[in-house]
Amino acid sequence: MISEKTAVAYSAAAESDLGRKRSSNEDAFGYSVERGVYVVCDGMGGAAAGEVASSLAVDELMRLLAGSASRGPTREEAERAIDAANQAIFSRARRNHKLSGMGTTMVLLLTDDRRAWFLNVGDSRGYRLRQDRLEQITVDHSHVEEQVRAGRMSRAEAERSPLRNVITRALGTQSQVTPDVFELETEPGDLFLLCSDGLTRELSDPLLESILRLGLPLDALCARLVGAANQAGGQDNVTCLLVRAGQSISSGNGKARRGG
Ligand code: CA
Repeated sequence: MISEKTAVAYSAAAESDLGRKRSSNEDAFGYSVERGVYVVCDGMGGAAAGEVASSLAVDELMRLLAGSASRGPTREEAERAIDAANQAIFSRARRNHKLSGMGTTMVLLLTDDRRAWFLNVGDSRGYRLRQDRLEQITVDHSHVEEQVRAGRMSRAEAERSPLRNVITRALGTQSQVTPDVFELETEPGDLFLLCSDGLTRELSDPLLESILRLGLPLDALCARLVGAANQAGGQDNVTCLLVRAGQSISSGNGKARRGG
């Protein structure tokens, strides 16, 4: 029996794969279960610039949010760190013309016991599986998403559109960027997915849901997701990061198993 006061203990696993068509991986990820910080980025830009942008973003975010503090970051600290990561990429691109125009998407999850926040820029996504139902939490910053929301395009048309790669917000391409923020209440059993578009282009939401519902260990689920995306074509780099909210047996303050 789960009491209202039961602490939530998180666990995580991630996998990033080249896919079957690309020669380099421009995706990057990082996480700290201890600090409740999880991030996936998908870089873009000529030559190796996309890789530089996504790894710079992940490094900056992990350094600022999971580096030294004895507690997990607040939403405000996350927003400041995103601003700093944006500045770091933007100024690096200005100093080096080979990196000009580089940028990256970002989806960040913060967890704090029974609360969680998704912050996103671009079309890397955050989902939540709750009681076997998958829900996309973030909203893509993309041209086709805007067209769908304005009623000018159907979902099916968006998926086939030649403009589906066009994103309307990125880290590092402008001097300022504003992420969207989604606050959630967490329940034991929730499973969060952070991923790059190389996963969601290949696998529909119902297919993602059917894999996540298998209830396998997180590393096995990551392997299934990457394998399925590659089997479906693997046109792009594929990255998935899974975070499971479990029931804590020992919260350290004696309240973990009240009423059990
Ligand atoms: Ca991609």
